[in-house]
Amino acid sequence: MQKNLIPIPYDHPGATNQSACSTAQAWASQPRDPKPEEKAALIAHIKQMLKDQGAVLVAHYYVNSDLQDLAESSGGYVSDSLDMAKFGYEHPARTLVVAGVRFMGETAKILNPEKRVLMPDLEANCSLDLGCPADEFAAFCDAHPDRTVVVYANTSAQVKARADWMVTSSIALPIVRHLKEQGKKILWAPDRHLGRYIQEQTGADMLLWQGSCVVHDEFKLVALEELMAAHPAARVLVHPESPEPIIALADVVGSTTQLINASQALDAHEFIVATDNGILHKMRTLSPNKVFLEAPTRGYGATCVSCNHCPWMAMNGLLNLAEVLEQGNNEIHVERAVGERARVSIQRMLDFAKQINLPGKGLGNA
Ligand code: SF4
Repeated sequence: MQKNLIPIPYDHPGATNQSACSTAQAWASQPRDPKPEEKAALIAHIKQMLKDQGAVLVAHYYVNSDLQDLAESSGGYVSDSLDMAKFGYEHPARTLVVAGVRFMGETAKILNPEKRVLMPDLEANCSLDLGCPADEFAAFCDAHPDRTVVVYANTSAQVKARADWMVTSSIALPIVRHLKEQGKKILWAPDRHLGRYIQEQTGADMLLWQGSCVVHDEFKLVALEELMAAHPAARVLVHPESPEPIIALADVVGSTTQLINASQALDAHEFIVATDNGILHKMRTLSPNKVFLEAPTRGYGATCVSCNHCPWMAMNGLLNLAEVLEQGNNEIHVERAVGERARVSIQRMLDFAKQINLPGKGLGNA
């Protein structure tokens, strides 16, 4: 077993929550999109409501392509979660409509407490967030008071409030290196694969919570090797929430934004992409002449219905977006004291990013 990696039984909340995933899949199977012949009118209706309400739509790369296109064509934004929140912070709109998962809405609210933050579906969650309950995480921190607490963006406001630092996947490495140089020992949560990757890259002393992403955890080594053999010129792009053997085959390991940038910059025609397949819409839009293949999840023993798509991200659709704007419901609330504490860990990261000149688009997470 890896040094400093604490063993947690599979039924610990830090382990992948399969029943929650199944519930989300059931939700995601509900219709979220209109009939094709009704789509154009619905999009026009949503745009008008956004305008009338002084609202702006910010969407994640993993939500469906209609929402991504609508965000951009209505003056909103598509990016990773932190850039979404930063965009919302800088935009004058009083209402932010966040198409993504719950922790993204909460982060937007923490950074913009005076604004109204709405989401198409408040039940859209994340296995990393669900697998790291605030009370159990607090007990874990209490048991290791000598460690600096670093949490990934994919956590609840309460967990962020307990942290010293919040990080996203593209800034996690420089921040952990910085802490290591200061002689700090780290308590990391919740993604075990990302934590292991950062520990390997930095050599830092890291104690890992054992959470995982239900999408990235499903990429299959043998099937990926077979796909690579069939496409020997393809470059392999991998998000670091993926298991170690998948990362070991990557040409590029990075956050959503870093992978999109790599797909544009690399001189290759074919790419195999190991992250949620929602990202392919942006990659194909930016590089229409390149070929993007999904890394396989249909190996031997897949459990997450092998779809390469987050069941919670799939809860976002045109129909529930329209409903939220019509009814003004599904507002995100974060208790003020929790938000103020959580903001400290987020602000620390933002200040560090400025200090090292990390570009705005590049702070991204899942
Ligand atoms: S893709 Fe994974 S990390 Fe991203 S929101 Fe879904 S479950 Fe969470």
